Amino acid sequence: MNNNKNTSKIKIFASYISPHRRLFLIDMALSLLIALVDLAFPFVTRKTMQVLLPEQKYNVFFVIMAILLIAYILRAVFQYLVTVIGHGMGTLVEADMRRAVFTHMQSLSFSFFDHNRTGVLMTRVTNDLFEIVELAHHGPENLLTCTVTIFGAILILMFIQPILATVLIVMVPVLLLIGMKQRRSMQRANKEVKEKTGEINAAIESGISGIRTSKAFANEANEEEKFKKANEVFKGSRIKYYKAMGRFMGTTEAMVGMMQVAVIAVGGFLIMKGKMDYIDLITFTLYVSAFTTPVRKLIQFMEIYTQGMAGFERFLEIMQTKPEIMDSEDAMVLKDVEGSIEFDDVSFSYETGEQVLSHISLKIAPGESFALVGSSGSGKTTMCHLVPRFYDVTEGRVLIDHKDVRDITQESLRKNIGIIQQDVFLYAGTVMENIRYGRPDASDAEVVAAAKMARIHDEIIKMPEGYDTYVGERGVVLSGGQKQRISIARVFLKDPPILILDEATSALDSVTELKIQESLDTLSKGKTCIVIAHRLSTVKNVDKIAVVEDKRIVEQGSREELLARKGAYAALEEAQKLA
Ligand code: ADP
Repeated sequence: MNNNKNTSKIKIFASYISPHRRLFLIDMALSLLIALVDLAFPFVTRKTMQVLLPEQKYNVFFVIMAILLIAYILRAVFQYLVTVIGHGMGTLVEADMRRAVFTHMQSLSFSFFDHNRTGVLMTRVTNDLFEIVELAHHGPENLLTCTVTIFGAILILMFIQPILATVLIVMVPVLLLIGMKQRRSMQRANKEVKEKTGEINAAIESGISGIRTSKAFANEANEEEKFKKANEVFKGSRIKYYKAMGRFMGTTEAMVGMMQVAVIAVGGFLIMKGKMDYIDLITFTLYVSAFTTPVRKLIQFMEIYTQGMAGFERFLEIMQTKPEIMDSEDAMVLKDVEGSIEFDDVSFSYETGEQVLSHISLKIAPGESFALVGSSGSGKTTMCHLVPRFYDVTEGRVLIDHKDVRDITQESLRKNIGIIQQDVFLYAGTVMENIRYGRPDASDAEVVAAAKMARIHDEIIKMPEGYDTYVGERGVVLSGGQKQRISIARVFLKDPPILILDEATSALDSVTELKIQESLDTLSKGKTCIVIAHRLSTVKNVDKIAVVEDKRIVEQGSREELLARKGAYAALEEAQKLA
């Protein structure tokens, strides 16, 4: 079962290498040539010493030495090519995988991002992939060259002197085992270092991003103490790692030494017994290094393999996560939208299980504006997220123009809905690009027109480079109100028949709020509008209001109707003293 799983994993792995198989094969062929040069050298030396030296054939001897020299120069060239081509292929595979995982992540639903942290996901797309790629080219290359050199050397040595060869053959697996054990303890230490690196990064991050808070509370010393602890732990884990590394290095060197001593000891004994000559002993000594290099490589391979495969598993985990929300097979394209919205007995719970909305029913006519009010956490945002199908209802239906949103393609559904939220995300890029995000094919003039309607144009032209001013990280810092109006300009460009305004103005000063309210009024003209508002002043002009409390709609109707009822809404207005 487990084996099967591994085979299929290796198959998927191979499918990523397959498009670059030409490079892969060249890489393997060159590695094979390198292994053959390594194998041939001691053997050729032996023949030379046996045949040419006693007969003092200077010419042939120097010709052979020249050939060996050329062989080593070629080997160096091959080594260069293997490094360049192997890593080059690795980079291509990595780029393919990165594209695949990025594209796939874009298709995943909100719920996936609810329980996967950005930092972790970023590690998947960077570090994990790097380890996979190391495996992609070093893996097969190491396996091939090591098998060829170890078995080749054993064959040749068996042919020269079976007893001495047997000594070496017995030693190889023992050394391999010892080496792997050391390497594993080094790997464990390395894992700990990685964990502690994560912790210290988190400590630094929270220390820096929380610096305003810690200063406000005069708690810097406290923060420093916390950081010092994390730093100590990190230091300790590093030292542990270096100790493990030292043991590994020491053992490896000892292994080479032991092999050499064994060859001289047993070889010397055989020479004294007259069963072997000096030339063969020299050949054996030369082969010791032909043995130790692949043994070292195999040990390294084990590590690359475990890390690469673990990275690959995490990669597959994302790739095999199915988007929770997918278009149904016969999904239709939403066209010529009138803009009616209906919640038909909708209940909803997030993956965490607890019900957030319970039997919600409401109807919004085309062009109508509808406000959701109620205490925070009552489920207003969640209701809004069901309309563009960021999440699917657990029970009931959400309908647009009398069509269930689950029967509409997500693309056409979302093209027809504009959302303005409190926290606006600006992409790293210019103001122009950020507004154009609303409709990527809009001309510059259209972008400027949208900015004017969003009442942000005047401020943009005062920026250092006008519409080409760079915003986002390492760019101009925009105020909350400016960001908000950029997001409104985006929606002006998109010009969707349905609008969702999520507490769009609640975090702003009153002058800015007025500006934004004006532009929102222009924007929402003739459109179906759902507004979430804390301040009841913003809902005075809407057609209908629903009060959402504790997962349910407790009241709905026009403001006049609700005031006349003297129920929950009237109480809210009373509380805000706006009546
Ligand atoms: P409101 O917009 O009225 O303040 P929300 O719709 O944001 O309310 O939240 C309603 C409830 O759903 C809250 O109890 C909140 O904790 C929970 N909730 C909101 N978003 C998520 C989420 N992504 N995963 C799990 N629970 C959530």
